[in-house]
Amino acid sequence: MADNILFTADPVELLDTLREFSFLQPYNLAVFSEREGLVAFRGEKNRMCGAFGENWLCLDGCDKNYKQEIDRAVSERKARIFNCSSGLLNFVLPFQDRDQHIHYLLAGGIRDQATDLEHLETIIRDRQINGIYFLEQWEQLPSTTRLAVKDVIDNIYGVLPLIGDNNYYARVYERTVDLINTISDLGPEIDRAETVDDVIQLLSETLTVLFNIPRIAILYPQGNKRQLILKGLLGLDNGAAIRLGAKSSGVLMQRKGERSLVLRGKQLKSLFPYLDAEHLSCLPLLVDNKLIGFLALFDHELSQRDLMIIELLCSRIAGKLLRLRRRRNREQESQRSRQLLDMVSRLAQLENSQHFHQGLVEMATDLLDAGKGSLMLLDDRREKLAIVASIGMNRQLARNMKLLKGQGIAGRVVITGSPMLVHDIEQDQRVSIDKRPRFATQSFLCLPFRSENEIIGVLNLSDKNNGSAFTVADLKTVEPLLEHAGSLVRRAGTLERASLLEELSSCDSLTGLHNRRFLDQRLDEELNRSSRQKLEFSVLLLDIDHFKNYNDHCGHLAGDKALKKLSHLLRRSAREMDSVTRFGGEEFCILLPETGREPARMVAERIRHGIEREPFYQEEVLPGGRLTISIGISCYPADGDSAEALLEAADRALYQAKDNGRNRIQLFEPTLRQQRIVFI
Ligand code: GH3
Ligand code: MG
Ligand code: MG
Repeated sequence: MADNILFTADPVELLDTLREFSFLQPYNLAVFSEREGLVAFRGEKNRMCGAFGENWLCLDGCDKNYKQEIDRAVSERKARIFNCSSGLLNFVLPFQDRDQHIHYLLAGGIRDQATDLEHLETIIRDRQINGIYFLEQWEQLPSTTRLAVKDVIDNIYGVLPLIGDNNYYARVYERTVDLINTISDLGPEIDRAETVDDVIQLLSETLTVLFNIPRIAILYPQGNKRQLILKGLLGLDNGAAIRLGAKSSGVLMQRKGERSLVLRGKQLKSLFPYLDAEHLSCLPLLVDNKLIGFLALFDHELSQRDLMIIELLCSRIAGKLLRLRRRRNREQESQRSRQLLDMVSRLAQLENSQHFHQGLVEMATDLLDAGKGSLMLLDDRREKLAIVASIGMNRQLARNMKLLKGQGIAGRVVITGSPMLVHDIEQDQRVSIDKRPRFATQSFLCLPFRSENEIIGVLNLSDKNNGSAFTVADLKTVEPLLEHAGSLVRRAGTLERASLLEELSSCDSLTGLHNRRFLDQRLDEELNRSSRQKLEFSVLLLDIDHFKNYNDHCGHLAGDKALKKLSHLLRRSAREMDSVTRFGGEEFCILLPETGREPARMVAERIRHGIEREPFYQEEVLPGGRLTISIGISCYPADGDSAEALLEAADRALYQAKDNGRNRIQLFEPTLRQQRIVFI
């Protein structure tokens, strides 16, 4: 009978069409090809005995009987009905395709109404299984009789020729057009999707509605080794992404540009041992021959036609995913350039070279999320490299680590001028040293550091915090930072020299005390601080008595010496926090922070007395026989709330002290405001 049954349609389509007939709806159906084994399946596998391995009804060796029945049916070219040892009714129906290859339809999963309770009790007893559970399961199965199965077989023989006629193709065509239309209608929706998650959601909804696929995932390559990551979309744990083994990834990735791959049974188990799946259709997501991942559809046989339709959808989805990925990369890039700009401007503000070097290492490690980093600079003779700033390293070790040019990786980078990216320090041929225990990961990056086209050192980075290896993208990320930093080096050096000059310029060369410029700064700072914190401070203005006389009698050189000695005495009698400055020729100013009127008077008196007591060269020529000073005192906030007002008040007081006979101190009194000003 099978001889005149020719069937050219796709086996999956055949099953789908058969299942639309109500007499076949309760059955689980499968099509086997003699050459390829199982080619299509519809139904619940655990109700099909034998063909799919162990299930709750199977017995040891019962698959042998089962195979015998099939072999007989195929050799006799006649349908056969058979019972399995547990009482299920199955049938096998052989047919030929146009190329004369033998196929057979296998149907089963229906209990035989003729199986009586006694037989079931025997099964339970013999197999020592849980009787209640067994009976419950048994009850739920659809039931039929051998006679009814015969009718079903006749019906199939009746409809098979119909399925093969034009009408059938017209229906398949109609369905295909419907599906293609639905998928093209999705186009604008896919275009509107804003995120990868939106696209994936749309994809999984579409596939469930159109094809009733129970489990869906996407696989996308990641990292240097392009290992595949599986992300479940439907029927799988969405949260947990699974990293496929190198072998599984390799098998799939090698299929670049090829069409879908359908895996079953053992082959599938070896690729996805952690997924309890029987069947997988793996469709490449390709854009212009660029493979961006796979769509994985589990446990659902698809006809070649349906696969092609889903492939259509895949190419649309792949294009969208690539556009989204590019947009994300662009966003990341612009975020990175903003970050870089921010870093460079922060670096530019660091005027001290030590801060500058440390800042650079911190920023580079931040940028690549590296746990360790160091900056090595060549010495003045351009021979040795030494660490000038580091992160994550033992300070002592860093300080003592010196390398000759050409020595080690850093030394070599200085000579070649090319960055070195090492994925695995143990495997890399260029690195002739054993694994260094200082590093937690095997990967590191060493870049030349240039200023004005000259290599002045190297930047080392290692130990990415997520444990992964550095990539070329990392190298490209950190290079611009280093370039900008290189152009700032000269500026930092210039600034440092400038600040040194400034430091020098705020000092008086004769006495070594700070000068008037410094005093002005200090007064401003002190005014700010004291007004904020509601503090008092005092200003002492000192002037040597009859110093003109001293110069005249002893000479200018002796005058200078006396000025130096006096400065030294003043410095010694001041506290650390006080600022002693040379205000003018032989006038000095002492700023006493956090000092009110009365304590300032005591300090001034102590200074005055100290100078009076101190012997000076040929001081006997002076009117009083001793070199003395007079001091005017003003206090913030009582005598003024600006630098000018306070200095003027102190000067008035000083004038008053001179007027009162010299070698004395004078606190400012408001009445002094009316008097004549003498100000140098
Ligand atoms: P008085 O008690 O009123 O202050 O009398 P005085 O002679 O000290 O008068 P005044 O303060 O006006 O004197 C300033 C003199 O200080 C003028 C100058 O000879 C001397 N002088 C100023 N700067 C220097 C300096 O750098 N070195 C030397 N040797 N003398 C200086
Ligand atoms: Mg004077
Ligand atoms: Mg004087």
